[in-house]
Amino acid sequence: MDSVVVKVGGNELDDSQFVQRFVAALARMRDPRPVLVHGGGKEIAVLQKQLGLQPVFVEGLRITDAESLGVVEMVLSGSVNKRLVAKLVSAGASAIGLSGVDLGLIRVEKMTHPAGDLGLVGAVREVNARALWGLLEMGMLPVISPISLGYDGQTYNVNADHASVGIARGLGARALVMVTNVPGVMAGGRVIERLGAAEAEALIADGTISGGMVPKVRSALEAVAAGVPVARITDIAGFESFAAGCAIGTAVVGS
Ligand code: ADP
Ligand code: MG
Repeated sequence: MDSVVVKVGGNELDDSQFVQRFVAALARMRDPRPVLVHGGGKEIAVLQKQLGLQPVFVEGLRITDAESLGVVEMVLSGSVNKRLVAKLVSAGASAIGLSGVDLGLIRVEKMTHPAGDLGLVGAVREVNARALWGLLEMGMLPVISPISLGYDGQTYNVNADHASVGIARGLGARALVMVTNVPGVMAGGRVIERLGAAEAEALIADGTISGGMVPKVRSALEAVAAGVPVARITDIAGFESFAAGCAIGTAVVGS
């Protein structure tokens, strides 16, 4: 059995048309078997602001103190995860909602980052691929919130791009597809069709690639370096065509 890891960002998950298209395409995928990893961007920011907390990012990564972790976990493992599962089950998929904590799916250590202390942000160390394969063999579609478990028993916030590459590596997935709100990695107003490591780092250094696209591109590169044959960054239209067997968006390649 082959698997494909699909990662969806948080930006579009409050857009019912996007969710409908996304869920319909995902529920139709049979071979390779999909595993979904999701973010929760916009909704986390809304709830943080309602609670008087200010979202702060370093290179696209959310600085997470204990209070913010509570919010992030509530949104990701609660409302967003269950909303996606509800839609997928309604569309006929045997979707099961989990977080990286459940079954110890994603074990992490506190991330160290050159730009400073990110707080309770985890770096993926191990993935319980056996448990995921068990679910896939039972015909289930795992829907994974990236909140994960530290070896210290603490839960950590993990960037969903980082979680998705960890899971793709752990499963030995055939592909990692990152679905976001842009048609691919853009430069000069156009989608880059093939992006290698050296060009990516140059575009990050000159600011062409910024914000949330930084961890996304680096995660895609890491997936390819770890042997995942295909890593793509695309939007909903690109995902629909991927699910239908043809590829658009940015293909991230090893070199
Ligand atoms: P997601 O929720 O899918 O992870 P992010 O907001 O984290 O989405 O990352 C996608 C965003 O990255 C885009 O909406 C865009 O604003 C930003 N971005 C920065 N640089 C680029 C680039 N060169 N090409 C495309 N998007 C970029
Ligand atoms: Mg992001």
